[in-house]
Parts: sequence; structure tokens; C-alpha cells
Amino acid sequence: MISQALPSAVEWRVQVQNVSKEFPPALGSSTLAISNVSFEVRNHEFLTIVGPSGCGKSTLLNILAGLAQPTAGTILVDGVEHARRTPFFGYMFQKDLLLPWRTIVDNVALGLEVQGVSKAEARREALRVLERFKLARFGDRYPVQLSVGMRQRVALMRTLVCDRPVLLLDEPFGALDALTRSVMQEWLLETWMVERRTVIFITHDIDESIFLSDRVLIMSSHPGRIKGEFRVPFARPRTHECLATPEFTELKRYVLDQLYDESVKAFQDEA
Ligand code: ADP
Repeated sequence: MISQALPSAVEWRVQVQNVSKEFPPALGSSTLAISNVSFEVRNHEFLTIVGPSGCGKSTLLNILAGLAQPTAGTILVDGVEHARRTPFFGYMFQKDLLLPWRTIVDNVALGLEVQGVSKAEARREALRVLERFKLARFGDRYPVQLSVGMRQRVALMRTLVCDRPVLLLDEPFGALDALTRSVMQEWLLETWMVERRTVIFITHDIDESIFLSDRVLIMSSHPGRIKGEFRVPFARPRTHECLATPEFTELKRYVLDQLYDESVKAFQDEA
């Protein structure tokens, strides 16, 4: 196993400190996507960032993944500047990005192959992960033979196999219908409980943010700032039954109050 992990028994944290990102002008003026964003995430924590469309959630994840550079601010991983800790973050996108000509096991292995692991070793490791999460029976199939939900599971396996300490999940269920989405949310929590890898999850779905997380950060509309934060009080393991509790409704109302004006503002900005 190619382990980038810090010892999981030891406390460490990722600190995002005053991070801003301004995109240079394409035609007219530049775009300030996020402004002065600060937060922390600890090992084993499931943190969700919820915010209106266009508030800079993906930009923030791209910066954490090292795909974009911040214009200002720093990211520390266990007290050390992020650039010296890479590769530390595994990234899963909304689209599964599976290669249609590769079998499922070879798609999962791809994450390791691009890191320079031999094909045989990457395949062995991919099979081990598929077995661990009870998906080995799909190993010889091709992406086209799987449902959209199953493809997302495989995409998560491809992210997990790389054994990065922090998983960045960018609206992974955004394209799914409501029922598949709730099945996938429960599956994600079961999967997460196996290793309790640190997760930073992005969504604009309030129910999803509360149901999945230990802690939720609320982002303002463009330019994105952290405007609120709360700890989710529900015990784990969780099932969708907790969505019907008065405590859930109360938390949802709180987030809605915080986000409604932001969503209107985002809509007006766009118009
Ligand atoms: P979200 O993920 O919350 O929907 P994004 O991070 O995709 O938001 O975008 C935040 C803002 O930054 C938007 O106004 C978007 O148009 C702008 N933006 C994102 N990427 C670029 C880019 N490469 N160049 C210019 N502007 C960008």
C-alpha cells in the first residue's frame, strides 16, 4: 500500500488560513471567487461546506487539491505548509470520469498507476479495496454496464485506493436522482465508518450537509466567505430516519435562514 498518511492515532489538522482566490480578467474585470476563507479540519472528521451555486466551493477544493494556487493565504497540514505535504488530498468530482475501455478494477487501479505504481501492484491493491467494500463482483465489468450510482461508488474506490489522508468530495451525488442519492449517502457513511478518513465534502443540498457531517460550514454567496458553522449533534451510525426528527428540522431551518438571502443574492448577481 502506498501510504501518504500521517499516523491516524495522532491528532493532526489541516488549517486553511485567510485564503483568497482572484481569477484574472478574461475580458472585463477580474473575479474574486473566495475571500479570506479560514477554517480547520481534524483527522477523522467529516466536514461539509454548504453554499449557493457559484460561491467558490469548487475553487476552494481545487486549491486544497493543489490544482489552483491561492492569491493570498496559506494552508497548513499538521503545521507544515501544504506544498511540502503533497500529495495529501484525494479528489473526487461530481462526474465519475471512469474510462469506458477499462474494466472496473482497472479503473480503480488507475489512481495508483498515475502515481507510478506498477500495473500488477495497482491491480492487486484495487482488488483489495473492492473486496473490502464488497464491490469485487463488479471488478470485471465495464463502466457502461453499471448504474450511475454504482459508477459513483467505483469513482470513490478509485479515490480511496490512493490512501490519501483527506478526501475532497465535490458534490459527488449532485447528478443523482433523489432516491439513489439517499441510498448513496447512507452507503458513503457506512464506507466512511470503516476507516474514518478525513472528508471535506462540498454540496448545496442542506439535508445532505446535515445528514453526513460532524460539522458544517456555511458559505456566503460570491465572493465566498465562511459565514457560519455548527456541529451536528446526531449520533452515528445514522440512517435517513434522523431526517424526520424535530432536531433535524430545526437545524435545517437555521441553515436555510443563513443561505436563503445568499442564494437570492447569487441569483441577482448572475442576472
Ligand atoms: P461553486 O463551486 O460554489 O459553484 P466555483 O468555485 O465554481 O463555485 O466558482 C466561483 C466563482 O469563480 C464563479 O463566479 C466562477 O465563475 C468563478 N471562476 C471559477 N473558475 C474560474 C476560472 N478558471 N476563471 C475565471 N473565473 C472562474
